[in-house]
Parts: sequence; C-alpha cells; structure tokens
Amino acid sequence: MITIKKPGKRARQKEYKAYLASPYWQAVAAAVINRDRKCTKCGATKRLEVHHLSYAHRGQEHLYLQDLTTLCRSCHKQHHKQLKDAQKARRHGRFQTPKTPKTKSNRRLQTRKSV
Ligand SMILES: [Zn+2]
Ligand SMILES: [Zn+2]
Repeated sequence: MITIKKPGKRARQKEYKAYLASPYWQAVAAAVINRDRKCTKCGATKRLEVHHLSYAHRGQEHLYLQDLTTLCRSCHKQHHKQLKDAQKARRHGRFQTPKTPKTKSNRRLQTRKSV
C-alpha cells in the first residue's frame, strides 16, 4: 500500500500564498478583473481581488475563467469569513464523544492486576 503524505494546513496555506504571488496567477487575476471590471457583489470598482468559485482547475485557471469571480477587498474578506464561520458551525454541531478518564484509569488498573 502506498500512502501519500498530505502537507499540513499551514504548509498548504504557505504554498497557496506563493501561488497567488506568481506571475501566472497575477496574469489570470488581471484577466478576470478585466472581464468583470467590478465587484460582482456590490459593484465597487476599487481594490478588486479575484475569488475562486472552485479550486478544481488550480494551476490552469486561464482555461477555466468561469471558476473565478471578481470581488472587492471587503466583499472578499466577508465572503471568506462567512465560509469559515459556516465551517466552524458545522464542526461545533458535530457530536463529540465525551472524554472518560475514569474508564481509562479503571482499565489501566485492571491491566496492572492481570499482569
Ligand atoms: Zn464588493
Ligand atoms: Zn476568495
């Protein structure tokens, strides 16, 4: 069995940041902003940023410009905050098994006895 080690969240963020700074992405982003000309949410024309609707074609976005949309900085920030909050809410909603230290120590005692 081959196991592929996935990079950690922090490593992925770092890598993604580097990608956003690459000349390729800069060119793609410029093309998207050129297409939309304004924030697709509020219509602002300043401080525009490009948002991924889908990361399915990362690295070849110029072929899939429909995956990208233009948002102004504040709408972009807000959008990602909402996504984050939604993720958080989902995580908190999940049933968490309560820790049972008593059972654990009991088990340890039993093991000690049996040895
Ligand atoms: Zn906006
Ligand atoms: Zn975004």
